[in-house]
Amino acid sequence: MDLFEYQGKQYFARFGIPTSKGGVADTVDEAVAVADEVGYPVVVKAQVKVGGRGKAGGVKLANDAGEVRTHAGSILGLDIKGHVVHRLWVEHASDISREYYASFTLDRAAKRHLGMLSAEGGVEIEEVAVSNPDAIAMRSIDPVDGLDLAAAREWVAAANLDEPAREQAAALLVDLYRCYVEGDCDLAEINPLILTPEGRVHALDAKVTLDDNATYRHPEWAEFAATEVEDEREARAKARGLNYIGLDGSVGIIANGAGLAMSTLDVVNQCGGAAANFLDIGGGANADVMAAALEVINSDPAVRAIFVNIFGGITRVDEVAKGVIEALGRVEISSPIVLRLDGTNAPAGREILASHLSDRLVAEPTMIDAARRAVAFAGGKS
Ligand code: GDP
Ligand code: MN
Repeated sequence: MDLFEYQGKQYFARFGIPTSKGGVADTVDEAVAVADEVGYPVVVKAQVKVGGRGKAGGVKLANDAGEVRTHAGSILGLDIKGHVVHRLWVEHASDISREYYASFTLDRAAKRHLGMLSAEGGVEIEEVAVSNPDAIAMRSIDPVDGLDLAAAREWVAAANLDEPAREQAAALLVDLYRCYVEGDCDLAEINPLILTPEGRVHALDAKVTLDDNATYRHPEWAEFAATEVEDEREARAKARGLNYIGLDGSVGIIANGAGLAMSTLDVVNQCGGAAANFLDIGGGANADVMAAALEVINSDPAVRAIFVNIFGGITRVDEVAKGVIEALGRVEISSPIVLRLDGTNAPAGREILASHLSDRLVAEPTMIDAARRAVAFAGGKS
C-alpha cells in the first residue's frame, strides 16, 4: 500500500525523523486555517500518490492567506498524471541550502536491503542514476546486521554530504532504516532531504510503500487503508469474491489458477496485445463464478475482447463449458469471446460448446492461437 505524503510524514514522525510542521486540508478555507496555525510562509502541496507533483504545479509557496487561497484553489481538483487532487498538505515553508536524496528498499535478488544516498537530491533520482551514477552512494545492507551509526557516518561522508549536515543525516538514516524495517516498508524514500541555512537536516517529502504482507501486525494501518482509492473494477470483483487485478490493456482475461492467469498475460503480450486484467477464477469454474467473472470484465470499458483460458485438472472442462453457456445466457457481453479449453474432459466440453459457437464466441485449440485471435479482436497489436 502506498501512502500519501502526509501519511508518510506521520509515519516518519513515529520514528523520530524530523519533518516540517503542517496539517491536511480538504478545502480552501481549511488550507488557510492550517497556514494561519503553522505560520507563513507555507507550502501548499497536492496529496496524490504519484511523483513529480512539483513540476505538475502541485507544490506552491504562499506568503500570506491570499496566496494560500489562490494556490489551494488552483491545486484542489487539479489532475496530476490521472490522479485528481482532493486533499492538500500545508506546511511551514523551509529555507533550503542543499537538497539530498535518501531511501531504503528491498533488493530481492541479493536478499538484502538497499540504501541509496545522494548529495544530488530534489530532482528525480532516476535522472541522477543515468546522468551521474557516481553521485549515488549505494549500501547493500545485511538484514541481520542492520545499519549502525558508525556505518551511517561513513556512508554520509562517502556520499559527499556537506560537513554541517553529516552528523544529523547519519542519525536520520539510522532512524529511517528503523522505520523501514520495524515499520515494515517496501520503500521509505525522502526526496528532498534538506539542509537548511540554520544547519538543520529534515525531510521535505515522504514516499512510503507499506508491505501488505505485514498488515496483520499493524492494526494502526487501518487508518491508511481507509483513504485508499480503490480501482472501481477491483472493488466490483472483490464484491463477487474474485481474485482480480485491473491492468491497462484491452484484452480481458479469465483463467483458472494464478500460474495460468499469469502465463495468459504473457502470451497476450507476446502476440502484441495487452491484458486488461488478471483474473484467476480458481478451481470452481461453475456458471456462477463464470457469470461473475464475465460481468466484471464486461463492465470495463477498455475491454475489446475476452480470452477465457481454462486448463481442466480437478476442474472438468465439460462443467466449465456448461458454465460459460449458462453465464452467457445471463449476461449480455459486449466483446467477442475466445475460448481455449483443455485438460480433463476437454472433448466433452468442446462438444457441448460446438452448437453455441459464432463469430462472437470462438474456440481455439491452443493457448497461443487463442491469444492471437483475442489480440486481433481487440484491434491488433498495440
Ligand atoms: P514532488 O515534486 O512530488 O517530489 O514534491 P516535493 O515535496 O519533493 O516538492 C517538490 C519541490 O518543491 C522540492 O524538491 C523543493 O524544491 C520544493 N519545495 C517543497 N517544499 C519546500 C519548502 O518548504 N521550501 C522551499 N523553498 N521549497 C520547497
Ligand atoms: Mn519529492
